[in-house]
Amino acid sequence: MIINPAMCFSFKPPSAVISTSVRIVFMGASLPDYPQTSNPHFNPPMNPARIQLFHGAHQPFQMGTAALPDELHSGEVLIEISLATICGSDLHTTEGRRSAPTPCVLGHEAVGHVVSSARDGIAYGQRVTWTLADSCGQCAPCTRWHLPQKCAHLFKYGHASLSDGSGLNGCYASHIVLRPGTQIMTVPDALPDAIVAPANCALATIVNALEMLPDPCESALVQGGGLLGIYASAWLRHRGVREVFCTDLSPQRLALVAEFGGIPVSHGEKMPQVDLVLEVTGSSAVIPDGVKALRPGGHYIWAGMVHPDTKLDLTGEAVLRKCLTLRGVHNYAPHHLVTGLDFLAQSHTRLPFEKLTSPALPLEQLNEGFDLTRSRQWQRVAIQP
Ligand SMILES: [Zn+2]
Ligand SMILES: [Zn+2]
Repeated sequence: MIINPAMCFSFKPPSAVISTSVRIVFMGASLPDYPQTSNPHFNPPMNPARIQLFHGAHQPFQMGTAALPDELHSGEVLIEISLATICGSDLHTTEGRRSAPTPCVLGHEAVGHVVSSARDGIAYGQRVTWTLADSCGQCAPCTRWHLPQKCAHLFKYGHASLSDGSGLNGCYASHIVLRPGTQIMTVPDALPDAIVAPANCALATIVNALEMLPDPCESALVQGGGLLGIYASAWLRHRGVREVFCTDLSPQRLALVAEFGGIPVSHGEKMPQVDLVLEVTGSSAVIPDGVKALRPGGHYIWAGMVHPDTKLDLTGEAVLRKCLTLRGVHNYAPHHLVTGLDFLAQSHTRLPFEKLTSPALPLEQLNEGFDLTRSRQWQRVAIQP
């Protein structure tokens, strides 16, 4: 997108709420004056932003700072992050199984407040979440193919170099600058941060994966009882699927799946043929079992095998003779996140979503947060800037 400098907006909080001035002292340094406000929801912006820098696989995160932009280009929005959660894909990055430009700020699952906006309809103070990718809205994937997540000019948060734009491109930070092609959604007040933060990755992906169901779809098998499998079990039940079986090697995970409406199935246990199978294990070894479990005309959806080590043991004949539909799913479009947030708003009082996220660790303890993620005690570890 070409940005006209004349369209730049100054970075100022609303003048109507400004009262006096306050000096912020941060990390021992005296910083310029910022306006103080009578609005209890307004936090005077700290300058610079606090960030956790990723320098490469197997290296610890390093706390640092980055200047907040003093002006926003048209369509940009500056967010103060309230809570971020550690996604499994970031774990892959820190372990060298996924590459990222360094140094950079990782993290793409979060919720926050608007500090400053240069976009119509997005106002200072709003509590929001956003799509994890920024797309151009012009290219064939964005317009004709209905796949904005495959935009020809795609930008992904938590995956861009510190030298790209403002540098505030990830969620392990006090602030993030959202770009003009990022969809921003307000969050219902009733939903706690810990329930909302993982929605813009795991939940929205599940909503996309399960958008098209076979007809009829009375039973399903979810292969994998991690966060994706838990969301899938709950979402399929919400959509009226009577029986949702779920397989996983961990009895603890399966116990949690049961709390979200899934039926735990242990390895080797017999189960009836199903209308739909969803793969969210990340392992191609489960594919033959999935094909076997499907009824003729069933749908098989793959959403977990997001890495190259996924060679398949599968014949074309097995798919063809059973008249199966195979569908691969990666990320999601903005409307899937809207649907996911609606689902959380409708179901958070009857489903124990709060059990999925750890008590929050401060941003300064991000390294400990990754250790906790590796311990697999929680589906998500929360980080509070
Ligand atoms: Zn994620
Ligand atoms: Zn595009």
